[in-house]
Amino acid sequence: MELFTHPDFDDHEQVVFAHDAASGMRAIIAVHDTMLGPALGGCRIWSYASEAEAVTDVLRLSRGMSFKAALAGLKLGGGKSVMMVAPDRPKTPAMMRAMGRAVERLAGRYIVAEDVGATVADMDEIARETRHVSGVSGGAGDPSPWTARGVFLSIGAAARYRLGRGLEGLRVTVTGLGHVGASLAAHLIDAGAEVSVADIRPEAVEAALARGAARAVAPDDAHRTPADVFAPCALGAVLNATTIPELAAPIVCGAANNQLATPADGARLLARGILYAPDYLVNAGGLISVARPFAGLADAEAKARLESIPDTLLEILAEAEAEGVSPDTAAGRIAGGRISAATAMPA
Ligand code: NAD
Repeated sequence: MELFTHPDFDDHEQVVFAHDAASGMRAIIAVHDTMLGPALGGCRIWSYASEAEAVTDVLRLSRGMSFKAALAGLKLGGGKSVMMVAPDRPKTPAMMRAMGRAVERLAGRYIVAEDVGATVADMDEIARETRHVSGVSGGAGDPSPWTARGVFLSIGAAARYRLGRGLEGLRVTVTGLGHVGASLAAHLIDAGAEVSVADIRPEAVEAALARGAARAVAPDDAHRTPADVFAPCALGAVLNATTIPELAAPIVCGAANNQLATPADGARLLARGILYAPDYLVNAGGLISVARPFAGLADAEAKARLESIPDTLLEILAEAEAEGVSPDTAAGRIAGGRISAATAMPA
C-alpha cells in the first residue's frame, strides 16, 4: 500500500499508525493540516474490509475536517482517526484507553471526538489518558444534535433557494438513522415535512416510523426515491458515477461526510442541475460544538455560528451560480484560501 502517492494523499502533515498489543487496538490518526490550529476531528470506529480502505477513509475524512473548520471560521485544523474493529473483535474500554494514549503522544496536535461508531462514553475512556479530547460527558457532550440542527436549517435554506418553498409538505428522504439522521428526521417531521427513511438496521427504521416518518424505503433505493431533498446521513461516497444519474431529487443536503466519491462528482451533479449542499459546510454543527473548549468559543457564540450555517450556504450557492461552478468548488476555494492565509503550527 502506497501512502505518499495515494490518490487521497493531500500533503497531509502526519499520518500515524497506532497499535496496542494488550487490548488489540489498531488505529490510524491523520493530521491533515494545522495551519489554522490544532487538528480536531472524530474517531470513526468501523469494521473495514482492509487496511487500505481504512487509510483511504482517514485521508479523506481528515482533509474534509480542514475545510470544515476553515469554513466554520474556527481556529482549528483538520484531522481524523479511524479505529479498526471487527464483528468478532468489537471496541472495548481498554482499546479506547489505548487510543487515548496514542492521541496523547501527539501532544495536542490532534484532538479527538466522536464519529460513526463512537459514543460519549468512549470519549470519557479516552479522557482518562489524555486531555486532548472533546465530546466528553460534563463537557461538550454529544455533537450529533448540533449537527442535525445545522443540516435541518440548511435543508430549509436550500428548499427556499431552489424550490422557493418552505418545509411544510417538503418530501425529504433521510438515509442513515443513527445519531444525526434520527434527530434530523425528527426535526423535519416536527416542521411538517413528509419524511421517507432508510437504514440497514430495521430497528432504526421502526423507531423513525413510530416518531412520525411517512414511509420506509430500502437503503439501496433511497437515492432514487422521488423527493424534493435527498439527505444522506450514513457513510460517504454515496454520490458517485452510478448513483448520480439515478438521483430523483433536485437537492442533496445531508450530514454524511465525504458524500462525493470523487471531485468529478460535484461537476456531475451540476450538469444534472442538482443543488448539492457541501457536506463539510452543512454538517459543521458537531464540530462547532466540540470545538467550544478548544477554540475559546462561548456557548452563545457557538450557537450563533450554528444558526449562521444556512447563511453561509446561501452565500456559497449564489457565488457558485454566478461563476457557473459547483457549490463544493466554491466552498473549497473559500476554505482553501483561509487555510493558506494562515501559518502552520510547529511540528
Ligand atoms: P451513526 O453511526 O450514529 O449512524 C450511522 C447510521 O447509518 C446507522 O444507523 C447505520 O445503521 C446507518 N447505515 C450504515 N450503512 C448504511 C447504508 N448503506 N444505508 C443506510 N443506512 C446505513 O453515525 P452518525 O454520528 O449519525 O453520523 C452519520 C454521518 O454523519 C457520518 O458520515 C458522519 O461522519 C457524519 N457526521 C456526523 C457528525 C456527528 O455529529 N455525529 C458530524 C458531522 C458529520
